[in-house]
Formats: sequence, structure tokens, C-alpha cells
Amino acid sequence: MDHNPIPLSVPNLSLDIMENIKETIETGWVSTGGRFITEFEEKTAKYVGVKRAVSCQSGTAGLHLALKVLGIEPEDEVIVPTVTFIAAVNPVKYMGAEPIFMDCDDTLDMDMNKLEEFLENECDYIDGKVINKKSKRQIKAIVIVHVFGNPADMEKLMRIKEKYNLKVIEDSTEALGSYYLEGKYKGKYCGTIGDIGVYSFNANKIITTGGGGMVVSNNQELLDKAAYLAVQAKTDPLYFVHDEIGYNYRMTNIQAAFGTDQIDRLESFIETKIRNYNLYKKAIENIEGLMLLPFREDTRSNHWFYSVIVDKDKYGIDRDELLRKLNNDNIQTRPLWSLIHKQKPYLNNQSYKIEKAEFYEKNLINLPCSSNLSKEEVGVVVEKLK
Ligand SMILES: *Cc1c(COP(=O)(O)O)cnc(C)c1O
Repeated sequence: MDHNPIPLSVPNLSLDIMENIKETIETGWVSTGGRFITEFEEKTAKYVGVKRAVSCQSGTAGLHLALKVLGIEPEDEVIVPTVTFIAAVNPVKYMGAEPIFMDCDDTLDMDMNKLEEFLENECDYIDGKVINKKSKRQIKAIVIVHVFGNPADMEKLMRIKEKYNLKVIEDSTEALGSYYLEGKYKGKYCGTIGDIGVYSFNANKIITTGGGGMVVSNNQELLDKAAYLAVQAKTDPLYFVHDEIGYNYRMTNIQAAFGTDQIDRLESFIETKIRNYNLYKKAIENIEGLMLLPFREDTRSNHWFYSVIVDKDKYGIDRDELLRKLNNDNIQTRPLWSLIHKQKPYLNNQSYKIEKAEFYEKNLINLPCSSNLSKEEVGVVVEKLK
């Protein structure tokens, strides 16, 4: 081996955070209260252009809160993508509801045409409610995932939402910093367009607090409710009165102490991600049989993860062989997630015309993309790809 191991996606942390950590230790504010929580929430809200953000323990917890405050009930159905990390889907089950799986299109995000077709042909629209013809259950919401930071077609989705009176949860856990450059949502950030949006600060996300999440919405009532449920639904802090079943989902001040620093560096991380993407692009354009997937036009994507499609006939080896080869060479690469509709807990759930997702599951590989990946390291990866 003539190079250091190159990981897929690792945190980009700075010792600047030590000042903050020191303060949490000296003041004793290490748990779910303290100034860093407020500061991180305010900074995040300001960054994505909303009035307020509510922090929580993880993106998964945020998605759970989102479904809860939007009134998803047992027996309801929620439309979800099959191309996603499973955490976008599991919270539907936490609510006792059932997911229906949709295909992706060539952006890897949910196929809006198929979504519309499904609602049009497979559902009845009765008294403002969408009823699934097959299950006779009500479909209440759609979870849209901006996969790998690539903004979904929110214009189309919001038209569908209005037409069918559905709720939209934006799983923006991979898309913090992505926004639209044109159209109705010009200048709007992923996560701030649907009814409620969720970010994640897990260690492999674009910024990290070790673990953590944030819920945003333009609907203050929903946020109040989310904040309340995240602290065990505590109605009175002195007498510990609780009027509902809540959760212990609030972010800690230690996590937020990372966050206040990380979010200041987010734009510089995105800059590096875009630079490295363009370096990969230039090189991969000249490699027969490999294609680097583009991000949606007219958006400023955060370029979180880079995806390459392997055409076995032209490239000579197939995706799995390339994966093995790179990983053996200490270049950490990964296939697309196994499709969720084929995973054990979801085998009995409905899925609709899933085709494209199968292709990407089979032929896609994610390349190293950390925001501290150097130009030289990109060069090393490219040499192995050739
Ligand atoms: C990371 C991720 C989540 C969950 O976030 P955590 O903070 O790890 O709980 C949810 N959905 C998608 C698409 C993700 O990539």
C-alpha cells in the first residue's frame, strides 16, 4: 500500500470546539439544557432561513417527532422511498403506521411521475382523504428523502401534496446546505419547504455533533409540539406535570457545543465537497464504463455523497468486483443501501413499480467524499479507478 487508508466519509472536527466543551464541564451544563443548545438552534434556523429550529437526539428521533406532530396514527399509511437509509422508514412503524414504497428516478430521489400515477390510479379520493384501494387505509403523508444531498423536485411534490391534501416530511438528513437556485423555491433550503423538515448530525453527515438532529418548520405550532414531546411532554417544569406520553429526545448541551462550531464551518465543507466532486468528474469522464451521477440542475447541492455507476461491459469488471478491489486497497467505498422494500421487516408492505431502484442497487458505488479529503487523495482514488 502506497497511501494511507482513505475512508468513505468521516467527521471534520477542529480542536476549536475544546473551548465550548471546557465551558460545559466548568458550568456543569452537560445535559439537555444550556446555552449551546439555544445557540445551535438559532444558528441552524438562521442558516436555512426559518424562524426556529428544535434540536433532538438524532435524525431518526426528529423524523419520529415529525410524524407524531403531523398526526400520523396507527393504521395510516405513509409513502416513502425504497432508496434511502432505513431510518427514513422505521419511524413510520414506530407510529404503528405502514409504509408504501416508491421507486426512484435517475436523480435517486423519489420518482414524482410514479408517485402521481400511484395516487391517481391506485387510490380513491374521498372527502379530502386519500384512500388506498388495495388496503382501504388512509394515506396521510409522504416522506421525501433528498438522497445524498441531491434536492428532490419539490415543486412537483408540493403540487401533488396540495392536490391530494397530504403532509410532506422532508428527510433532509443528508441535505443540510442544499438549496434551489431557480423556480418557485429559488433560495429555499431543503428541509424548509414541506410541512416539516429534519436534519441529522450523525458522524457521517456533512456536519456532526457525534449524534443529533434538528426539526424545522414554518408552522410554529408543530415546532412547539415537537419541542414539548422531546422533553417527556412536560407541561409544568416545577411540579412535573405531563399531559401526554413524551420522549427523551432532546439534544444535550455537549452535542450542541460541537454543533455551534460545526455549522460555522458548513459552507467551507461544501466548498471542498464541490471541489472534489469536480476533480472526480474531470477524471471519470475519461474512464470508459464509469459515470459520475450529476446533482440536480438549478440547485446548489451540498454534494454530500458522490455516486458512480459501473457499466460492467464497458468497464471490464462489475460493481462488486470494483468494490472489493478498492476496499482491499484501503479505499473505503460502499454500494447503495439494500432497497428497503426488500428488507425483512418490510417484506409484507406494498411497493409500486420498483424498477430503477433495482438498477442503482446493483450498479452504484459511493466514492470517498469526506470534507477533509485532499486533492491528492482524490488523485489516489482516481488512479485506482483507471
Ligand atoms: C442519517 C439518516 C437518517 C437518520 O439520522 P440519524 O441522525 O443517524 O438518526 C435518516 N434518514 C436518512 C436518509 C439518513 O441518511
